[in-house]
Formats: sequence, structure tokens, C-alpha cells
Amino acid sequence: MTIDDAPRDALRGGPRELLRWVATGAAVSRADLSRLSGLSPSTVSQRVEALISQGLLEETGAGRSRGGRRPRQLAVPTGGAVVGAIDLGAHHARVGALDLSGRVVQARTLPVRIEDGPEAVLGTLLAEVATLVGDDPVAPADGSAAGALRGIGIGIPGPVQHATGRIVSPSRMPGWNGFDVAAFCAGRVDVPVIVDNDANLMALGAHRTAHPELDHAVYIKAGTGIGSGVISSGRLHRGAQGSAGDISHCRVVADPAPPCTCGNAGCLEAVASGAALVTALRGQGVAVSDLTGVIRLIDDGDRQATALARQAGRAVGEILAVVVNFFNPQVVAIGGRLADCEPLLASMRATLYERCLPLATQTLLIERVAAGQDVGITGAAHLVIDHVVAAA
Ligand SMILES: [Zn+2]
Repeated sequence: MTIDDAPRDALRGGPRELLRWVATGAAVSRADLSRLSGLSPSTVSQRVEALISQGLLEETGAGRSRGGRRPRQLAVPTGGAVVGAIDLGAHHARVGALDLSGRVVQARTLPVRIEDGPEAVLGTLLAEVATLVGDDPVAPADGSAAGALRGIGIGIPGPVQHATGRIVSPSRMPGWNGFDVAAFCAGRVDVPVIVDNDANLMALGAHRTAHPELDHAVYIKAGTGIGSGVISSGRLHRGAQGSAGDISHCRVVADPAPPCTCGNAGCLEAVASGAALVTALRGQGVAVSDLTGVIRLIDDGDRQATALARQAGRAVGEILAVVVNFFNPQVVAIGGRLADCEPLLASMRATLYERCLPLATQTLLIERVAAGQDVGITGAAHLVIDHVVAAA
């Protein structure tokens, strides 16, 4: 299935915006919503009633009175595990059940063998989502609709064609090329399933958690692979097909230029991803088997590993400088397992300042993604919530 990106929410006071104001605490009443949106009280009331009837908003207790009857307060129902989320990585998957505000109710990490293929891997993860949602400790005992699953969001560590939910030429996912994730899942669950790439989900999760007030942001995900997600005018920017932000195969200055999985040489992914660091260290005779080993060496101050991390940071900085000059974001944040790697971050930052226009960096925030291991499933949940609200 496709995501409903109906332009109606571009209008001020669309259902998604109303819900977001309530979720963030900017509005607690119909009057607040009317003031923020500029819509008439009757239009706001109509939209609020629709959201309440869909179970997306609820009225609680009584707010503060400004004379006369005390207004009832609006809130987003919390506590119910009603959104399923899967953040698939190369070796692990984070699976969660979240509530309508995007808060994690339950989550766990499962080991994954991506080479087992999409049917086996996704089958296991969908079963885990069902278990987590079924185990919801705060589900209504009467089994009412408030506790029912609304949808599942899935993040894939490779390119996803946005309109179809199909995976297209992923680097390290043998057997997954062309696989229709959305159709496979639709045959197994009877709720909407929304598929996106992992960097977009990280971007959405981090943006909604840390900087929902900023309109323009770029999020780099640096782990085994490397990619980015772009927030433009407050929304995830996917481009025509869904490949916007995919910086993995942008060429960087590297001598010699290492070969890339795409068939070219000198791609960012072949120089600066976790997988590239493992390959490069092995090529220098260092016995290291995975990214965890590389990070340990860097933390221990190993000379070769640190030099490679600096080179990776410069490469990320070079590409990011082009992105920042072109796009002029308010914040650039780096997440993924390499984000805690100090030498990489320091050289990325230095290159960025060196290569960017002063006007682009004057007020630019450069930071780490702070939301931790649940940032991907949080983004996945927000994809689903936005879809459910738009459909309502
Ligand atoms: Zn490449």
C-alpha cells in the first residue's frame, strides 16, 4: 500500500497538525486549537469530534476555567500498545509496540540473519510485533477498540521505493532485491503496513522527539551502512521515488578509491560506513570481525583504527558540506553506531565548517541524535500515526 500524503494537511489546522499540537502540549482545548490554527471554533469542533470518534483524541477531566463552565481537556490516548514498529538492521532488529503519542510501551531487540531472506526474517518479526501488542500490560480488559492494533511501520536498511514499499538494489541484503515488503505483510496482517528506509525512520523519530519546532533538518545514520534522512518544511522529504537523502553512493575524495558494492569506486559507503572500516582494517592485517570490534579499537586509541575513523569523518563532512550548502538546514544530527565515535565526529565537524558558506553554518546546530536505540521504532510509529490520522 502507499502512504497517504494528501495535501490537505498542508493546510493550517489539518487533522495531523491539530493532533500534533495536542500531543506536544501546545494545545489542551478546542479554544487553543482554534487560536493556533486560525480556524473557526465550529470547524475545529467538527475536526476534533472526528478525531475523537476515531479514538485518536480523548477528552479528560476539566481544564482551567476562564470564567463560566470549565472546559474539558483534550489529550492523545496514551498507554495502549496500538502501533507496531520494526527497525531492521544488518544483524539485529528492534521491535516495538507504541501508543498513539509515539511513546514506546514495550520493545525488544532480536538477533537477525538478513541472509535468511525476507519471508523468514519478516515472518519472525511480524510474529514478535503481535506478541508485544498482545502482551500490552495496560490494554483495556474489555478488549475494546482502544487497544486494537492500528498499523505497523517497518524500517529497512536499504533503498525502498516509496509508492510501492518495494526494496530496490540493497547493498548487503542478499535475496531482498525487488521484494515487496508491503504486499508480503499485507497478506499476514489486516492493518496498514508502511515501509520506509531506516535512515528516514531515524530522521522522523529524532525530529519529532528532539526538534519538532525546527522545519529543516538533516539526519545522518552511520552504522554498518551510511545514509541520511531529510526533514523539509517540517515533513520527511522523500523525493520522487523515495531515494532522497541516500548519500551512500556519492563520490568522495579517496586515494586509492576503494571498490563499492554498487560497482563504482570511492563511494561514501565504501570509505566511511562501518562495513568499510571493517574491510579497511582487515586489509591492514588487523584481526577484526565486525563494527563492534572496530569501535572498541577506536575507543582504545588504536592508531590505525583512529586514522580510518578520521578519514571516514572527513568523507562524511565533505558530502554533508554539499548538502548543507545546497539545503541550508537548521540542524544536522548524526546517529547510528558510529555517532559515538569521537575522532569521526570531530573531523566531520571540522570539514563541515571548512567547506560551508558562513551563512549556512552561522546558526547551524551540529549534534548527535539523542533518542537512543528506540529512535527508529519511534519514527516508524509516527509514520503509522500520520497515516491513520490522514485516513481519519
Ligand atoms: Zn557505491
